Amino acid sequence: AAPLVVAVSTSISAKQGLLIRNRANFEGARKLNAVVFDKTGTLTQGEFGVTNIVPNNGYQENEVLTWAASLEQNSEHPIAAGIVSSSKEKDLELRKIEEFESITGKGIEGKIEGKKVNVVSPGYVDNNNMDYDRDTFAKLSEEGKTVVFVLLNDELIGMVALADMVRETAKEAIASLKEKGIHSIMLTGDNKKVANWVAKQLDIDEVYAEVLPDDKANQVKTIKSKGWEVAMTGDGVNDAPALATADLGIAIGAGTDVAMESADVVLVKSNPKDVVSLMELSRKTYRKMV
Ligand code: ADP
Ligand code: MG
Repeated sequence: AAPLVVAVSTSISAKQGLLIRNRANFEGARKLNAVVFDKTGTLTQGEFGVTNIVPNNGYQENEVLTWAASLEQNSEHPIAAGIVSSSKEKDLELRKIEEFESITGKGIEGKIEGKKVNVVSPGYVDNNNMDYDRDTFAKLSEEGKTVVFVLLNDELIGMVALADMVRETAKEAIASLKEKGIHSIMLTGDNKKVANWVAKQLDIDEVYAEVLPDDKANQVKTIKSKGWEVAMTGDGVNDAPALATADLGIAIGAGTDVAMESADVVLVKSNPKDVVSLMELSRKTYRKMV
């Protein structure tokens, strides 16, 4: 039978909104000295609103938004929800998708009315040597906005900027970790300027940006090899391999099923501060045992 302290902690953890899926790894949580966080949907609310549409080559704002939203109807990314809801607010009529594919960590691609349409990251545009208004891009990014590019038959027809909100509880979580001497790290697929902007608001110790999904797990491996006992906290499909690689994988309850299935603990209330609670609970539970 399970020791009494463990049984007691199960009901305590449930009350605190912690769903413990892997007890052995949860036991190790008392030894953690570093916590890695995904940005979008973990440190931020992951609820994007469109703030700017910057058309290119004489296209109209609504035209850019219509192509983008038509394609994003098929995506589950938080960026997609922001773009689609903005098109609805403007009563734009969306077009039918003929083909759809997601380009992991970089955006989406599809066919609409016989045309190739993409909504992609700055990294994708840079890799394909496409030209765009870099000053405007830099200005939007420095305001903490996430910028995506809309391509029509490989012609860049505009950029769409979206704003997300930093979770107030994330700020408290980082401060609380800092008090305990625990190192905090951000790992995001978003661009460096946005990542640094969010990191500054949260006073996070270390930032890795423009990290593709497979590299998130590699990055966690590298952090482990430096001797850290590390937890990874994330919400997305792209975080799943990193959650499985960390000493403790922590999923945000409001996140994707894939993330939760790969995690050792689920934060049912989606509150990043519960990362601290779970470390405390692990310590209280297991210090009584040898
Ligand atoms: P994070 O690690 O912060 O959760 P992601 O890895 O999910 O970020 O996304 C990385 C980047 O890929 C986004 O900032 C965006 O530029 C691009 N991207 C991913 N999915 C989409 C999509 N559906 N539409 C547009 N851009 C996308
Ligand atoms: Mg995310």
